[in-house]
Amino acid sequence: MTLELQEVNKTFAGTPALEDISLEIRNGETTVIVGPSGSGKSTLLRCINLLEIPEKGKLQLGDILINFAEKISNKTKQKLRRNTAMVFQDFNLFSHLTAVENVMEGPLTVLKQEKSTVRQRAQEFLDMVGLSDKYDSFPARLSGGQQQRVAIARALAMEPQYLLFDEPTSALDPELEIEVLRVLQRLAHERLSMVLVTHNIDFARLVADRVIFLEDGKIEFDGPTAEFFASKNERIRRFIHSLKLEV
Ligand code: ADP
Ligand code: MG
Repeated sequence: MTLELQEVNKTFAGTPALEDISLEIRNGETTVIVGPSGSGKSTLLRCINLLEIPEKGKLQLGDILINFAEKISNKTKQKLRRNTAMVFQDFNLFSHLTAVENVMEGPLTVLKQEKSTVRQRAQEFLDMVGLSDKYDSFPARLSGGQQQRVAIARALAMEPQYLLFDEPTSALDPELEIEVLRVLQRLAHERLSMVLVTHNIDFARLVADRVIFLEDGKIEFDGPTAEFFASKNERIRRFIHSLKLEV
């Protein structure tokens, strides 16, 4: 099902962070959001997950319809959050739970699934991110890359319609970044529906079906990846080159 935003506006203390954002994020695609620091990328993801509530605009995901001008019921909020799992820059794992327990937490407490099947499934999700040998490790004993892969398994375990990633590798050393990017690349190949904020422009080019370019809280580009990288638009060209070594 398509995720749709219509004329979404979000301000912080009167300063606009998002202005009239309208977009469609299609099912089974990887959409990459790029843009300069402060352009509203995190705010956009957070609005999709209702971690921020816009003042105006609409959001639709399947039969979930939200008009931000009206009060949102808790039931609607929960339903939307279940269908949009977020992976953060700094992992946000429970430190007192093992890797497998971290992955089990959502299915047990939120989805109320059977404990007997939850562990088995959690292990399968850890297998998917290459952590078959770390089920019982606590986060403190894992590298940053491994912790982020647990966080990805935890998001997958909720079986959401959309996976949202906010700069998932920016806290990692390069060799650990690669292991996380490989996992994301695999998920993209499996046609999961993902929205990914990243500064890694080469990775964006590799995995994105579509690119959204934000600047000053507005969408300056929204289209197929090849079109973005071939764009003659001066601002887009300058932005791409600012993140690359070669000319
Ligand atoms: P990006 O992720 O693209 O770097 P953000 O979405 O974090 O940008 O921020 C967009 C704008 O909104 C920035 O000007 C930022 O300072 C502001 N902003 C973001 N979150 C808050 C907040 N919680 N309170 C006040 N201002 C915020
Ligand atoms: Mg950000």
